[in-house]
Amino acid sequence: MSEKWEQIESLIEKYPDLPPEAIFKEDLLTKGISFSEDALRVASGFKPKAYFIFSFDLVPIEEMKHRENLRAPEEICLVGGQRDFRRIIVSVRLNPNSPYQVAISDEGEPVLRLEEEEVAGVQFQKTPEYYHRTLGNGKPIADIAPTIEWGYLLYLTVFRICQYFGSQQECQFCDINRNYRQQKKSGRPYTGVKTVEEIIEALEIINSTDSDSHAYTVTGGSITSKLNEKSEVDFYLQYPEAIEKRFPGRWIGKLVVQALPKEEVRRFKDVGVQIYHPNYEVWDRKLFEIICPGKEDYIGRDAWIQRILDAGDVFGPSQVIPNFVAGIEMARPFGFKTVSEAIDSTSEGLNFFMSHGIMPRFTTWCPEPLTVLGKQNPEGAPLEYHVQLLRTWRDTHEKYKLAPPSGYGRPGIGNAVFSVSAFMDVIRSGSCGSDSHDSPKIEMGKVGSENLGRKRES
Ligand code: SF4
Repeated sequence: MSEKWEQIESLIEKYPDLPPEAIFKEDLLTKGISFSEDALRVASGFKPKAYFIFSFDLVPIEEMKHRENLRAPEEICLVGGQRDFRRIIVSVRLNPNSPYQVAISDEGEPVLRLEEEEVAGVQFQKTPEYYHRTLGNGKPIADIAPTIEWGYLLYLTVFRICQYFGSQQECQFCDINRNYRQQKKSGRPYTGVKTVEEIIEALEIINSTDSDSHAYTVTGGSITSKLNEKSEVDFYLQYPEAIEKRFPGRWIGKLVVQALPKEEVRRFKDVGVQIYHPNYEVWDRKLFEIICPGKEDYIGRDAWIQRILDAGDVFGPSQVIPNFVAGIEMARPFGFKTVSEAIDSTSEGLNFFMSHGIMPRFTTWCPEPLTVLGKQNPEGAPLEYHVQLLRTWRDTHEKYKLAPPSGYGRPGIGNAVFSVSAFMDVIRSGSCGSDSHDSPKIEMGKVGSENLGRKRES
């Protein structure tokens, strides 16, 4: 058995209380996925990667020899196979050098392999009808209103640039500005600033053709001065305001912007936003200052944390869901040297927020080569860290008897659709409120082998 397989098998054995599928998922998100030419040919008939905000790839586009950026799917569903996987959705982070590969088996089915050995069967998501449509001005819907999480979430990055600019200001794990430049260079239609009219026109089409989407996120880069003569709050407010006016309550409205003062946050709530994500990125004070220099200078870590708590008074604590980027606290040269130190620090943050009823959640760090931290840490954080974090998050969540986060669909292995970390996959049935959910079950049938077969014939 190779070193890699030994590592995975020993983690599965060491943590029997975690779904093995979630362990593979965390590794896939850190190491990325390659595709055989046959698999790319099949996948290119399904819902493609839309580059909804960052690159989330392990290589820049110019190093993708097979045009994977245009042909790979947004997400894959792992299910069945020799290990009898329960359904789990994984975001595709491209890496032609990954030990993981999606290939086509001798039986003609897509499979995931680790170093040539089969891990699970693979399914792709059917392209939604609206992905074939364009706005009146010719822009594709996949640029203006792509979906992720297997169609559950409309991801509206209305400003694809961040005004924290350059390595002295940008968050050191973030490639939003560099990704924008590489996408434009590659020729992809990629709107820097989307108008309210474009968003509403796209949603009109989606509303009339789609029943899978249950939530939208309005987000984009930070605005430290003005954009189109508007402050950050005034700029981002116009989108949910228009959406809720035109489609009241049609989707769960979520907003990712900086941690803003309470009176500004209240304006978002007043127009109908239901969930607020003031992302704190990393808990440790020193690391926050180093990794998020723009946020530290402009707002400061103490004010950021206080504003997260204050937002709980506006939205209700459970509707405040700040994200952190799991793994950056171990990034060289400033991060923690051991898994236990990193987990202790992150656990302190989880306990702090969850004891107030706030719902921190995480995305698994993708060490993108276009970022400062990605260049210095191409391997990302150790898998043992990610696995321990899943348990720590789950156990802290259970300790405070919190319900599953709202706006994420059904929790638990076999149900969850959140694709950029496995925190939703590890929520146990029977944990507080885990049987309540805000969306109907998303049926497996939409990506059946029937679809695959048809595509292969064409
Ligand atoms: S605030 Fe940081 S994470 Fe957010 S877009 Fe700007 S640089 Fe990226």
